[in-house]
Amino acid sequence: MAKYHQLNSLAFVAAAAVAAVGMLLLLASTTVTVVMAADADPIDDFCVADLTSPIILNGLVCVNPATVNGSTFAFTGFENAGNTNNGLGSAVTPGFAGVNYPALNTQGLALARLDYAPGGLVPPHTHPRATEVLYLVKGQLLVGFVDTSDKFYPAYLKTGDVYVFPRGLVHFQFNFGKTPAFAIAVLNSQNPGVQLIAPALFGATPPIEDAVLAKAFGIPASEVEIIKKGFGA
Ligand code: MN
Repeated sequence: MAKYHQLNSLAFVAAAAVAAVGMLLLLASTTVTVVMAADADPIDDFCVADLTSPIILNGLVCVNPATVNGSTFAFTGFENAGNTNNGLGSAVTPGFAGVNYPALNTQGLALARLDYAPGGLVPPHTHPRATEVLYLVKGQLLVGFVDTSDKFYPAYLKTGDVYVFPRGLVHFQFNFGKTPAFAIAVLNSQNPGVQLIAPALFGATPPIEDAVLAKAFGIPASEVEIIKKGFGA
């Protein structure tokens, strides 16, 4: 009986130890989750992306630092306006690590030049992994975002103004002026992600059932079909 009790105590100690280790692992994993809420910190001075590497990882493979010079860090992709001759009257020119600005790799930043014809719109969208700061270089914009309580935060910007769109929230920009406008956006992830609200719902592949969208928007299925046609669905 005593021996059994002793074994039982040992088992209890072992179980407690396992539980303690489990708690530590849980705490550790929680800590890691918090750290990973932003892009990983760089562990070298720089890691200019090798856009030709077939290796896939969380970020991009670096080129040999010895092959890098000052001009590697310069970016000239914003010199010309994007073509706004489209249905929305807007154009987004990226300055992304993985697209055309490899020096941004591991720096936790992405850039964009935004051009707007008069009446042009960058329609409601979100960036799941980044906050966006927009500097209006020229023109006039109505901008704003909607928070998670559906409160709308509009602002009328003029040349030289800056606006911040908090991470993950739905936002847009609209050129209400009579002249073209352009802005530079900086986002605090090298891969911010972009999800346009309307095409995500009405242009998804395969299509979302009409009944779902009809109920969600409080409109007849026939109107859902009309909207879907506008997004090629
Ligand atoms: Mn945006």
